[in-house]
Amino acid sequence: MYKNIFLKKGKEESLKRFHPWIFSGAIHHIEGEPEEGEVVRVLSSDGTFLAVGHWQIGSITVRVLSFSDIEIDAAFWEERIRVAYEMRCAIGVAGVEQNNTYRLIHGEGDCLPGLVVDIYGKTAVMQAHSVGMHVDRMAIADALLSQTKGAVEHVYYKSETTLPFKANLGQENGFIRGGSADNIAVENGLKFHIDWLKGQKTGFFVDQRDNRSLLEHYAHGRALLNMFCYTGGFSVYAMRGGARLVHSVDSSAKAVDLVNKNIELNFPGDSRHQAFAEDAFKYLDAMGDQYDLIILDPPAFAKHKDSLKQALKGYTRLNAKAFEKIQPGGILFTFSCSQVVSKDNFRTAVFSAAAQSGRRVRILHQLHQPADHPINIYHPEGEYLKGLVLYVE
Ligand code: SAH
Repeated sequence: MYKNIFLKKGKEESLKRFHPWIFSGAIHHIEGEPEEGEVVRVLSSDGTFLAVGHWQIGSITVRVLSFSDIEIDAAFWEERIRVAYEMRCAIGVAGVEQNNTYRLIHGEGDCLPGLVVDIYGKTAVMQAHSVGMHVDRMAIADALLSQTKGAVEHVYYKSETTLPFKANLGQENGFIRGGSADNIAVENGLKFHIDWLKGQKTGFFVDQRDNRSLLEHYAHGRALLNMFCYTGGFSVYAMRGGARLVHSVDSSAKAVDLVNKNIELNFPGDSRHQAFAEDAFKYLDAMGDQYDLIILDPPAFAKHKDSLKQALKGYTRLNAKAFEKIQPGGILFTFSCSQVVSKDNFRTAVFSAAAQSGRRVRILHQLHQPADHPINIYHPEGEYLKGLVLYVE
């Protein structure tokens, strides 16, 4: 029997609207002493059942798994993962030949707060962002194998850096089901080496897939700068799109090695591509005006609300440099992946940059995260990626 948590009077409102988080300030009292990661029942002050979820010490105290009074057992994980897999098949990213790189579980977006699972070929890379998901990792791994119709054979667990604290959790990175050294995945028919061992996040930025396709469409005959290239996703698409020249830049030498490997994998010996390990601001200051297609996809400039103002200044400064140098008739793809920076905030920051340059600028597309990173309608905080495609006269 799960332990009961009683909320303060009036604190059940957000749960009635299916928001999946309960903050510590909403709790009146707890029956017993749940361990971190344990499943608990949440009740209103008058004892009405509200939800079951994972308990954790911290600002978000309960992450809701269900608004029904059910047991969180193997059947629960199987059902959630089956639904998530069916959705990925329905939107055409899973179960197809030309693509085996996609996000299968996007936390709250898939009603599984604290869990991220990305698929690379036959390997699922799983990340727990809550203690509860860590505690339940083996049951989740089993469901990943049983509910994906043979798509997943191996589960690599990668939570050393995503769990709130390391004490006694034993979250070493490694395979917890199967095991494979085959780390080449296919995205829209292009091949990528995925470094889930040492790479950032789960090893690849799956969330830019649709935006890379759009870039491919604009690449023909253009001279392109892919700034903050990481594994070079945009560069590889640009090569296929017929770009005249592709320069990839990242401050990390490892990223530059990866982009070179990925270009070699798809376009061996193609001299149109070159990669440079350099700081973005230094590179943008020193470069000439040779580019007529520029991508700016920086890391999150703001991780918390407190740094929002500073972050917006950063986006303005960065984009101003691109507006200053891009060829007339050039196209700028510019992104922000900071959750705390809203679509409007970002657009205003880019607007300021455009105004500084005095160029005539039109918005061609407004971009966002793809369908395999769904936003739970009851959890608007799940929206994080935004981008603009601009035509610069
Ligand atoms: N566009 C990439 C993802 C970018 S992630 C993709 O599609 O996969 C952000 C990248 O910015 C990281 O690889 C990081 O190494 C790089 N980076 C961070 N600070 C930088 C800086 N000051 N100059 C250049 N690159 C930087």
